[in-house]
Amino acid sequence: MDIEIAVVGAGIGGLAAAGFLSRAGFRVTVYEQARGFERVGAGIQMSPNAMRVLRALGLEDRLRAAAFTPPTWSHRAADTGDLLGDLVLGADAEERFGAPYLVLHRGDLHQALQSAVPPDVVRFRHRLAGIEPAGSSRLRLRFDGGTAAEADAVIGADGVHSRVRELLLGPERPRFTGRVAHRTTFPSSLVRGFTVTTNTKWWGADRHIVIYPVTANAGELYYVTSVPDPAWDTESWSARCDPVEVVEAMAGFHPEVRAVVAAAPEAHKWALFERDPLERWGEGAVVLLGDACHPMTPYMAQGAATSLEDAAVLVRAMAGHADPATAFAAYEATRLDRTARVQLTSRTNTWGRAGGDTSWLYGYDALTVPLAPPGR
Ligand code: FAD
Repeated sequence: MDIEIAVVGAGIGGLAAAGFLSRAGFRVTVYEQARGFERVGAGIQMSPNAMRVLRALGLEDRLRAAAFTPPTWSHRAADTGDLLGDLVLGADAEERFGAPYLVLHRGDLHQALQSAVPPDVVRFRHRLAGIEPAGSSRLRLRFDGGTAAEADAVIGADGVHSRVRELLLGPERPRFTGRVAHRTTFPSSLVRGFTVTTNTKWWGADRHIVIYPVTANAGELYYVTSVPDPAWDTESWSARCDPVEVVEAMAGFHPEVRAVVAAAPEAHKWALFERDPLERWGEGAVVLLGDACHPMTPYMAQGAATSLEDAAVLVRAMAGHADPATAFAAYEATRLDRTARVQLTSRTNTWGRAGGDTSWLYGYDALTVPLAPPGR
């Protein structure tokens, strides 16, 4: 196809979009601000709706081999450990939804997505500064440092602090929730007296922690918290904190939780912000994808999953409409309601606590969902 697409951001959504675009025969270049890929110490849950997209990119076997398959996502009272609700996963979820529910290291997911993109497609050290018209139908992307590139269409997959969103819609004012997420990965052999065998969310009165293995043999563990901390508002994957802070935050929790957090040699800290669903994601031949247009709290573990869904739907829309602006309008119309629902449900931080119906979320198939006609 003789359309040249620029994707801004080589994160989860951007790489997935680039993978689908190159498979569909589009000319695609991904511009990424970072100097190269780094292995961020974090886990990630990939629910069946996400795994269906990763399967279509040819990554399922590789991810199954790397990931842990939790039998449940259990919800327990922080102090007594009593079971509050149980989402049954494992073979049951796979049979019901036709795809597995995996938990893995974010770095392994990212590496797998890189392998789905031809090597010369990603240009590192390209931090987008501006986008402007170049002639009647082309766009010019300007990068920090003065370099530039042209394309017929631009996909802004540049994450929660999206420059493309800012250029389209103006600066955003997110609401700080007054809470932070601590997170880290480390060898499970460091934990004394307990073996983590599934994915568990431990619910305290004003805080929680989620703990699960991130490797197939459960040799590496991950935790992620949500804890009140009104004085900290840095939303960044690289910000660190003293792991003792997490030990103190979990002081009243079950001995298993205390054993896990006490074993972690280091920790990172991410301020949790809330953002409302957007009413539009693009203008003409520029459109947003993933956290750039629907950033959400991590409480349902769906931010990356919905970015993957976006990528699959977007490229289906592009295959069905020759004009990128029309394709982008069809993509936006197909995706807006679903992502708003996930965003708003995630905000309530109730997912799974009392069991409940998961089929509307995990049963979604981005490869076959009917595409809406273009238009808002
Ligand atoms: P990102 O993955 O953030 O990628 C954006 C990319 O754009 C980055 O590489 C960045 O460097 C680049 N970029 C930014 N600005 C520019 C620029 N100006 N020019 C060029 N490049 C630029 N989701 C799940 O599905 N499951 C989970 O279990 C889960 N757990 C989470 C736990 C925590 C603590 C957090 C904070 C989030 C979690 N999420 C989870 C959400 C998930 O991490 C995000 O939704 C996902 O990473 C979004 O993907 P993306 O491609 O839109 O953005």
